[in-house]
Amino acid sequence: MPANGIGRATTVTHEELLDAFLEHIPDHVYFKDRESRFVRISRALAVHFGLSDPAQAVGRADFDMFTAEHAEQAFKDEQDIIHTGTPVIAKEEKETWPDGRENWASTTKVPLRDRNGNIIGTVGISRDITERRRAQQELQEYKTHLEELVTARTAELIRANEALASSNAELEKFAYVASHDLQEPLRMVASYTQLLARRYRGKLDADADEFIGFAVDGASRMQQLIQALLSYSRLTTQGRPLELTESQAACNTAIMNLRQSIEESGAVVRVASLPKVYADSTQLTQLFQNLIGNAIKYRSEQSPTIQVAARSESGQCIVSIQDNGIGIEPQYSDRIFEMFQRLHTRKEYAGTGIGLAICRKIVERHGGRIWVESEPGRGATFLFTIRQAEGTQE
Ligand code: ADP
Repeated sequence: MPANGIGRATTVTHEELLDAFLEHIPDHVYFKDRESRFVRISRALAVHFGLSDPAQAVGRADFDMFTAEHAEQAFKDEQDIIHTGTPVIAKEEKETWPDGRENWASTTKVPLRDRNGNIIGTVGISRDITERRRAQQELQEYKTHLEELVTARTAELIRANEALASSNAELEKFAYVASHDLQEPLRMVASYTQLLARRYRGKLDADADEFIGFAVDGASRMQQLIQALLSYSRLTTQGRPLELTESQAACNTAIMNLRQSIEESGAVVRVASLPKVYADSTQLTQLFQNLIGNAIKYRSEQSPTIQVAARSESGQCIVSIQDNGIGIEPQYSDRIFEMFQRLHTRKEYAGTGIGLAICRKIVERHGGRIWVESEPGRGATFLFTIRQAEGTQE
């Protein structure tokens, strides 16, 4: 025998190896004879059975250890293995113990053969997977709970959206009908107050002249507001489908429409190359017109210079209209997009306060958003996003 001791390992018998194995393995391991009676079991299984010595299990069967139902199933499985030679691999089963304890096990049972290959029983290895099953079940419950939550929340959102859409549609209808039907009587009031003014100016007293003046002014202002409201509600009622549109052309038309105020103000409007987008071209023209029109209207002492440009960002086009006008305090940058919201008196700048509300509605109808970046005295840049045609560059 070699002095280094390596050879001594060969003196360990199979029996000793098996003893050590069965003594220390944490899994439930058992050998059974053809009648499903225990021949050997691991200590871990003996402990589970409540036996102080694994040898006490020899000769006993599952019927002595588990509930009858469980024992019958195990017996049937083992008899199948013995008669067919087909193993059961990693079968997950619930084990119920006579004292009511329950646990989950992953069980593998294979035929036990003698040297000649005859099946003389079964070998089983059963691993406790209760923790894993519990975690899986918790995860599943959590998932189901989450799915239920998501479904409920989605349904809620859909309902809220539908309600919002229908109330929006109703509001729009109301605005349209009201403004449309108000036009006729208002035209009457306006023309008769104008008639009064023409016929009786200087013939009554000074107060009367002043009052008639107020009435004429009020009526014409109301006409402007109603016109504005009507054009606002027509954005949806008379909006056309979005089509491939040259935004450059829409911008040029807007500039053409504004040529009088461009000439009068001496404004310089520079337009960089603009891409093809999906739009209702009339509305896109109106959008450019309102924004460039405002850039001219809200000019500072400097002569107005306006720059229209576009850049693409993740399939979207961002169009910017930059001016060197009076600018806007950042705290008003949301308010100005609301209907009838103005930052100036009519004496300072004429207007109804609907221009930017129309811009926002157009942009939103096109699936984009609009915002302003500005500081007082340093000009303003209005930006909006719009879907760009694939393959077109800025
Ligand atoms: P209106 O021009 O009729 O007042 P808008 O809705 O077009 O209505 O604009 C709302 C307000 O936003 C304006 O009263 C003005 O104070 C501000 N505004 C719009 N465009 C500009 C701009 N380019 N520069 C500075 N202020 C602007």
